[in-house]
Amino acid sequence: MKKEIKCDLCNHEISEFLDLGNQPLANKYPTKKEFKDEDFLPLKVLFCKNCKNVQLGHKVSRERMFENYYYLSSVNEGLVRYFEGLAEELKDSDFLLDVGSNDGILLKPLRELGVDCIGVDPSDVAKVANDAGLETIVSFFDSDCVDKIIKEYRKPDCIVCSSTFTHLEDPHDFIKNLKNLMTDDGKFLVEVEYVGNFIKNIHFERFYLDRVFYYSVTSLKSLFKQYEMDVVDVEEISPHGGSLKLTIMNSSQNIEPSQRTINWLKKEESELTTEILTGFKGIVKENIVEFKNKLQEYKDQGLKVCGYGSPARLSCICNYGNIDENLIKFTVDDSPLKNQGFKHTPGTHIPIVSREELEEYDPDVIVMFAYEYFEDIKNKLNKEYKFLLPIPPKEIDYYVYKGYTRTIEVNEKGEQTDNLEAKWETK
Ligand SMILES: [Zn+2]
Repeated sequence: MKKEIKCDLCNHEISEFLDLGNQPLANKYPTKKEFKDEDFLPLKVLFCKNCKNVQLGHKVSRERMFENYYYLSSVNEGLVRYFEGLAEELKDSDFLLDVGSNDGILLKPLRELGVDCIGVDPSDVAKVANDAGLETIVSFFDSDCVDKIIKEYRKPDCIVCSSTFTHLEDPHDFIKNLKNLMTDDGKFLVEVEYVGNFIKNIHFERFYLDRVFYYSVTSLKSLFKQYEMDVVDVEEISPHGGSLKLTIMNSSQNIEPSQRTINWLKKEESELTTEILTGFKGIVKENIVEFKNKLQEYKDQGLKVCGYGSPARLSCICNYGNIDENLIKFTVDDSPLKNQGFKHTPGTHIPIVSREELEEYDPDVIVMFAYEYFEDIKNKLNKEYKFLLPIPPKEIDYYVYKGYTRTIEVNEKGEQTDNLEAKWETK
């Protein structure tokens, strides 16, 4: 008899809706010598219809995930601008803690605004922050770390967790620690990539082994409720191709959720269902076939093709579609941690090189894997190229990014709903 799998957020029965085959760890960039040591694990995605949680069927230990973790936030100019804006919003905090502070991308503008703040980060990049004078405790956010902060600093009235919450293996443990650390009237700001957008935009490649949970507003509400905390606001933000920023406070503060929070929950009732996710599976298959056919077509025509960016999602797409250097000669990454030392993409081993090699190679088509930073990347290139967006496959001869448009709707109660939409113009 098949063993029943339970949702790790609410403990109800959960079922599989997507199988992306065997995948390597997406944040490991092997050299030729290391190819033989690569691990492949099954990537199956499950849905809980009780709390609308999406999670993986297999968990990778966090120690394994974070060793040699190569993501440097501040290499990305778009993200730097975003965090400068966030710092401005949070400048009235008394004492702020950034959990998963990376290289200090939020701490830096906060310090410049005179806000008392520290970071916590377990990976090697914390050293980059400390070297720059941005105080960072090198640790996981666990009970020892919480004790240290209370003893050596004080309880923060604002705790931010902008990109690591989605990486947590055990969000329950995190929330218990958070609850102990935060002041009674403090707020917790969490940013998560929004699973509803993955479905809407066919971004199946955003499911990867080092992320167990893919959150919805409904699943976060249900999760925090178990610890007497409420989601009081939800805002759509731009990083990572459409994320959500949620504000969470202790239920004891009796804060009514904003109208836009209520709207999000309502939207998910119809847009995040078993039926929709079952249909998603077929759409994913069609798209990977179309992408691979397109690359094969270029090859048959004798066109030179390379990639731009080596994010984890490249690994998922290329491993699921079995796409290697026969179809994409190399991919460019601007981070010296990735483009030096003869590293390759995980699993299908496409070489990772610097931008200079792209200019020398002079490709006919660039596959834009780092698509949300299209504008920044395009500005760095010395000429206009033809681009291919991977999933859904879309050719763009010339690309004009018109920024995000923001429409604010005000309802009869005077409450605001923000709508952010990326404007892309092609010709
Ligand atoms: Zn659940």
